[in-house]
Amino acid sequence: MRRRQLILAGGTALAGALPPAHALDFAAPAPPAPMRVSVDRIVDIAVGIRPFRAQGPRIEAQRLFGKQVVHHYGHGGSGWSLSWGSAQRALALVRTLAKPGERIAVIGAGAIGLTTARTAQQAGFNVRLYTRDRPPQVHSSAATGLWTPDSRIATDAHANEAWAADWEAMARASFKVHQSFLGLPSGPVEWHDGYAVTDDPMDAPLPGPAGEPDYPDLAERIADLRPRSRPLEAAEHPFRHVQARRFTQLVFNIPAYQRLLLDDFARDRGELVLRDLRTPRDFAALPERVIVNCTGIGARTLLGDDNLTPIRGQTARLVPQPAVDYAVIYRGRNVLALPRRDGLLVAAMGEHDFGNADLRPDHEHSAAAVRRLAALFDGSV
Ligand SMILES: Cc1cc2nc3c(=O)[nH]c(=O)nc-3n(C[C@H](O)[C@H](O)[C@H](O)COP(=O)(O)OP(=O)(O)OC[C@H]3O[C@@H](n4cnc5c(N)ncnc54)[C@H](O)[C@@H]3O)c2cc1C
Repeated sequence: MRRRQLILAGGTALAGALPPAHALDFAAPAPPAPMRVSVDRIVDIAVGIRPFRAQGPRIEAQRLFGKQVVHHYGHGGSGWSLSWGSAQRALALVRTLAKPGERIAVIGAGAIGLTTARTAQQAGFNVRLYTRDRPPQVHSSAATGLWTPDSRIATDAHANEAWAADWEAMARASFKVHQSFLGLPSGPVEWHDGYAVTDDPMDAPLPGPAGEPDYPDLAERIADLRPRSRPLEAAEHPFRHVQARRFTQLVFNIPAYQRLLLDDFARDRGELVLRDLRTPRDFAALPERVIVNCTGIGARTLLGDDNLTPIRGQTARLVPQPAVDYAVIYRGRNVLALPRRDGLLVAAMGEHDFGNADLRPDHEHSAAAVRRLAALFDGSV
């Protein structure tokens, strides 16, 4: 048993029995359980569309067909991460248009719609949620579930200092709310360690995804929000022939998170109505005066918003492995594995994701990612 475990198990009574601190090996924890990765363990493949806007999320009010509509969409690859901070922005607009106690409408039950609905309820609004699809049929259900508030969130050209400061405030506010979901029985939000591994020098720059614009480098602005990563000696990690760093990161167990948000929404007397809005005129048919439009990529068709670009993404789930509690990012080999409760999640970028709204699963794409990951554990790399 390691020193920390001893103290946790036995409290101060045991502390006197410990060998001196310098005799203990803090730096070399036992190697973690290897991941069991093989193509036959894939139990599900999900495809989703990231709603990308070069300008970043659209959060603004517009009068449309007699209604006050607060647009709240376009969160790229960052929707889960930024959701709460972004919802607070949208709510600030709602407050200028409606009084607490009034019933407002939220359109959409993805990450943005659910968190907006909860934020409005907590501020004292009654909320009716209209949506064409409900989880797990929404694009948000296909997400990897990593804290990535800077993923495909805008183009570098649009991210000037004022924009970046705004983004940072949103990311920090969101991070704070995610922490309030730690320690719950269903584990909607958890911290996990992970290994970034590479066959190349660790600091070698990686090219961005092919055919995509340059994205801003924002990570340094919020570097204090997670523990520092550090390089590991070969004896400290389970992989052969690669260099590794350990990092610690926030993980969203998406199914549990969605379920909790829906349950909390219903408990606070929220109503969910299945409704497909075909044109902006359909806003006028809703009884609510103030409407928050959280339709994600759906806003492209609903509003004819050509500023939205679909970015396809695919995730595969392997049979859950509760003994595996670490993530792996295989740098330069385009594969990421996440220890989610609903399965070992394996994600890889496609070659033609940008501008691609094809929702058909590509089994071979996920199978190839699984094989690259498996090579890390069978010693063939
Ligand atoms: C593969 C993949 C991996 C990702 N990984 C991460 C990650 O690790 N971390 C992270 O933070 N983000 C991640 N994202 C990004 C994140 O999932 C998105 O930013 C997020 O899903 C956007 O949520 P949304 O609510 O705006 O859209 P959606 O989930 O698409 O929800 C839109 C809602 O609006 C409804 N709707 C649309 N049109 C209409 C209409 N006309 N009438 C009525 N209802 C309508 C839909 O039915 C749905 O309920 C990932 C995305 C993908 C695809």
